[in-house]
Amino acid sequence: MSNVTGLACRECGQEYPIAPLHVCEMCFGPLEVVYDYEYIRKQLSRKVIESRPQSLWRYRELLPVNGEPSVGLHSGFTPLVKADRLAAHLGVKELYVKDDSVNHPTFSYKDRVVSVAISKAIEFGFDTVSCASTGNLANSVSAHAARAGLRCFIFIPADLEQGKIIGSTIYGPRAVGIRGNYDDVNRLCSEIADKYGWAFVNINLRPYYTEGAKTYGFEIAEQLGWKLPQHVIVPTAGGTILPKVAKAFEEMKKVGLIDDPHTPKIYTAQAAGCAPVIHALHKGTDLIVPVKPNTIAKSIAIGNPADGYYVLRAVRDSGGWGEAVTDQEIVEAIQLLAQTEGIFTEPAGGTTVAVAKKLIEQGRIPRNESIVISITGNGYKTIEAVMGHVNQPFTINARLQDFDSLYQSLAATVASPVPAAELH
Ligand SMILES: *Cc1c(COP(=O)(O)O)cnc(C)c1O
Ligand SMILES: [Zn+2]
Repeated sequence: MSNVTGLACRECGQEYPIAPLHVCEMCFGPLEVVYDYEYIRKQLSRKVIESRPQSLWRYRELLPVNGEPSVGLHSGFTPLVKADRLAAHLGVKELYVKDDSVNHPTFSYKDRVVSVAISKAIEFGFDTVSCASTGNLANSVSAHAARAGLRCFIFIPADLEQGKIIGSTIYGPRAVGIRGNYDDVNRLCSEIADKYGWAFVNINLRPYYTEGAKTYGFEIAEQLGWKLPQHVIVPTAGGTILPKVAKAFEEMKKVGLIDDPHTPKIYTAQAAGCAPVIHALHKGTDLIVPVKPNTIAKSIAIGNPADGYYVLRAVRDSGGWGEAVTDQEIVEAIQLLAQTEGIFTEPAGGTTVAVAKKLIEQGRIPRNESIVISITGNGYKTIEAVMGHVNQPFTINARLQDFDSLYQSLAATVASPVPAAELH
């Protein structure tokens, strides 16, 4: 008896054993982990989960690991913040921020997928782990590999922010910057994965990797007191996290952790400079036309999303929607979240906040229902995005009279704290 029974093709259903495989030999569809939900239902209860350490492994029966997880022991269980000041600003009643900007160890949602993928790589006996990354994934793979003592190669676009680059290289991987965008990096990595036989967490370990993203959804429901929210806004890059949040909610019902029969409406958020999924959603088609990214939201700048089709499906099945926002709106939203809730996110998080604002203003999301905004990354890594948009400090000499005159010149304008209603 085991929680996992194998892999199966999402399109034709062909079954495969648990192995480092990711595409179906029959139809080239993506492979997905298959669980024995009847077995899991008997093992897992709210009480069992609540008795375990506060990490993503508290849902281990619903993750594709065998035995004890070996890395990422402190990943997950990030705060679900009741965001009352942001709610007042947006004019809604019940708003939460699921805050993976403080995930462990590398401050983004990617620590969830990497914890699972690298635990699996160790089970499979790989000695080298790797990834194609827009930045955060490389940070997480580098840190987990260092901790596990594995050899590590990361591949990133050469023009990333300094915080994202040093946030990988500090852990000592072999880091390779590619002249090109993420889609170029990914194409190269597929060739390297075939030739070198390493564990690429988001290529040949992709079926295991993506399952880690469900824990974001599990935690939202548990932290709401084993209830589902009515609306969830999720950013989309390659299309991993959004469908997995939807799957998480469904699985919790299936194994009896949630009684609540309703399905949360899920909304995808993209930057206008890279919005292939939003274009298809708004056109009413399943066909995603790749774009060339041009946005400050580099961590979600994927022009040809591997799982974009499944994002469309999850959004439509849930009755949700999606929007794209400009770089200017993203920067304003980063500041809004910081100045209302004290949470500093990167442009991906600015994107979800700005999209939530837009959907609320459009009347797509009703003002009196519960809303969760996904914050998936940390602003300290992407200082470049807000530089030039925030006030510089005043500089004075260390003399009281200098401060007195500064204070007098400011007295009219300095109010504390800034009322949310006055923020732009
Ligand atoms: C990777 C990433 C996402 C979402 O990516 P998906 O590939 O769609 O799962 C969102 N936000 C940040 C900060 C990320 O690094
Ligand atoms: Zn198939």
